[in-house]
Amino acid sequence: MTPNIAPSNICEFLHKDNLVIFLFHGVIKKQIHSVRNYTMKHIEGELFDEYMGKLAHQGSPISMNMVLDHLDKKKPFSPGSFAITFDDGFENNISVAAPILEKYNIPAMIYLTTDFIQNNRMSWIDRIEYAVQKTKKSKITLQVNDNTYPLNHVDEKINFLRVVRELVKKTPTCNPNLFAHQVCSDLGFPSNISSDDPLDLKLSWDQIQKIHKDNGLLSFGGHSHTHPILSFLSSDDLSYELDRSISLMKHMADIDSTHYSYPEGLAHCYSDEVIRELKQRGVRCCPTAIQGNNSLDMDPFKLFRIMVA
Ligand SMILES: [Zn+2]
Repeated sequence: MTPNIAPSNICEFLHKDNLVIFLFHGVIKKQIHSVRNYTMKHIEGELFDEYMGKLAHQGSPISMNMVLDHLDKKKPFSPGSFAITFDDGFENNISVAAPILEKYNIPAMIYLTTDFIQNNRMSWIDRIEYAVQKTKKSKITLQVNDNTYPLNHVDEKINFLRVVRELVKKTPTCNPNLFAHQVCSDLGFPSNISSDDPLDLKLSWDQIQKIHKDNGLLSFGGHSHTHPILSFLSSDDLSYELDRSISLMKHMADIDSTHYSYPEGLAHCYSDEVIRELKQRGVRCCPTAIQGNNSLDMDPFKLFRIMVA
């Protein structure tokens, strides 16, 4: 599989004055599926090692706590400053990525979706990918557009997944969880699929608690409770998502909610109301998934990231 960013190009994102925050989801030992993970949301450890080696050599790693300190005090970033972040809370962040981060002494922030942690839950798109990979059905008809898609071969399955991603992205009225429920049940799977595949397994509170106590290279922040697009929620639902995730992190692992990241993280996925509600609950820094680097005068709630995987 071809990486989204070639290892030889990773350092081109580094900047002499500005901070670069890299966004990852997962790091796995080896890609074994033919359909699942075709987007390389989880990259292989070997590639992650190459990225980290190059960045450690040419750049200057800092933690998200240090990022906040620089922004607070308007303290210039060292040349080539970069931070590593992971969204969602995959177990492979600890079992595969952490030893590589240790090797190069690079700190990282893991943003947890607390319902995924509580119940080893899968995101809507992971459930659809799982069902599409495993289904024996030869086609599916989508209710939203009444189109029928063949699912006989790997290529047809990947094409269908591309259609699904596109469709959900451009239809703000589409509730991804309900959509996934429909697709999974059409393909013969329950909507609450849970799996221990390295692409699916989430961190446990025990792991999180221990790592947080160790106070080493890894830190934790919030990423909502069930991973909805926060700006689409009613104010009651928004309060629930934030309160539930923040109180679980506090009670289960004594983590303060200084750091958070927006699910999906695109410009339409957060709003002034979302930012106000986060601030009210003690959050002080919340990067987006919008591409770019960050000068010292950036708003800590509108930081850019470079999505690697
Ligand atoms: Zn996410």
